[in-house]
Amino acid sequence: MRTPFNHPGASSSSTVRADVAVIGGGVVGHGIAWEAQRSGRSVVLIDDAPGTGASWAAAGMLAPVSELHYQEEDLLELMLDASSRWPGFAAGLDSATGADSGYLTTATLAVGADAADRRALMDLRSVQQANGLEVEPLTVREARKREPLLSPAIAYALDTPADHQVDPRRLVAALRLALAGAAQELPELAVAGAVDSYAVPDRAARLLWDGGAVGGVRLAGGGTVLATETVVANGLQAGALDGLPDGLELPLRPVHGDILRLAVPRHLQPLVTSTVRGLVHGVAVYIVPRQDGTVVIGATQREDALSGAVSAGGVYQLLRDAQALVPAVAELELLESTARARPGTPDNAPLLGRVPVPGASVGGQAGHVPGLIIATGFFRHGVLLTPAAAAICRELLDGKSDPRWAPFSPDRFSRPATAATSPFIKETA
Ligand SMILES: Cc1cc2nc3c(=O)[nH]c(=O)nc-3n(C[C@H](O)[C@H](O)[C@H](O)COP(=O)(O)OP(=O)(O)OC[C@H]3O[C@@H](n4cnc5c(N)ncnc54)[C@H](O)[C@@H]3O)c2cc1C
Repeated sequence: MRTPFNHPGASSSSTVRADVAVIGGGVVGHGIAWEAQRSGRSVVLIDDAPGTGASWAAAGMLAPVSELHYQEEDLLELMLDASSRWPGFAAGLDSATGADSGYLTTATLAVGADAADRRALMDLRSVQQANGLEVEPLTVREARKREPLLSPAIAYALDTPADHQVDPRRLVAALRLALAGAAQELPELAVAGAVDSYAVPDRAARLLWDGGAVGGVRLAGGGTVLATETVVANGLQAGALDGLPDGLELPLRPVHGDILRLAVPRHLQPLVTSTVRGLVHGVAVYIVPRQDGTVVIGATQREDALSGAVSAGGVYQLLRDAQALVPAVAELELLESTARARPGTPDNAPLLGRVPVPGASVGGQAGHVPGLIIATGFFRHGVLLTPAAAAICRELLDGKSDPRWAPFSPDRFSRPATAATSPFIKETA
């Protein structure tokens, strides 16, 4: 029997054709691929290790309110757009697959451990309220009535009802099921020579160019994917892809995160019913309850030399701080510690959209590199932003673009154009 993760896909030693090639099979690439497929296009998704990047580690908090950071208000509109899309996105996926994508409307409690944490959360609340977001202070008594295992020593609590969650591993599995199912049901969508399934288990080696447009992907294994549109969605590795437009810089940096998964013994279930996001002496920690009775405790944020390894100090810090908020954490069974890198950008916002070509215009509209869409740099918010990224890419495939998302243009960190001609276009393959 074929499971989503061993779907054989296309042979990488041959040439396949599709309307859309998506490079990278994390949550973002899968979400975009599914949306493109739902729009009636044939799609191939290229990844030799799908679902194992940052998406494997993510807690899956869908938290536009809690994740509002000072001076990142530009991101808020995108996060709120994504958040509003989540119920429909999850329902569409569940009905396409008959499976549960792991989306839950669990509420969120923000909790401060000491007086300084209380002030920090009150300051954040002012910013949240100034942006029209719903956050309500609770007394410690009220918070403990909702979550009886919260420590009585906490200093402050805020109800954040609009922040929810999804299980990213279930989500990727559901997206793969949906893509595989639709690829089999709709063979008429495939153009001549196209694959009859969506997955190409290989790595993209370089973009192929044809007459000034991106025309597909050369695979590391020697095969070729020819596509009318190529979406670069391979997370942290996107900037290293050969054949990106000349002068386009995708300044991605790894921001490592340690995260834990723990089983809650029967007598302590449920440990918490809300996602608990704490500040403990200035350090952030969260506890996310899952449907299966486990909890996720995360996450550190470090840019050190440990790279992909789990940090002992990070695990210590997470357990110490989670225990300060919910003392019973000490009685849980540690199932898993994982570290992955978030694809960070200089302004913590994604690189999302077509690549503009300065000076060029098509039918009165600003010109762009044909056949190419960039979707990377989702940093701390890739799971939340997946439905928005998918919808934005679908609009771009349909020839539309929404000016609200111009601030996320993928060329915003690239050198200013100096040539009178189109600096980003490559003419050769
Ligand atoms: C500890 C931790 C906790 C997090 N918690 C949350 C959270 O609660 N909520 C939230 O919204 N976000 C969270 N994030 C962030 C989120 O995980 C990322 O923003 C998101 O997973 C990025 O998805 P992606 O698809 O862009 O990248 P990835 O998931 O990294 O996927 C990239 C894929 O590209 C593939 N690839 C790489 N190079 C190539 C190539 N040349 N050819 C083909 N394929 C290639 C890789 O194999 C990989 O599968 C968290 C991240 C971490 C690390």
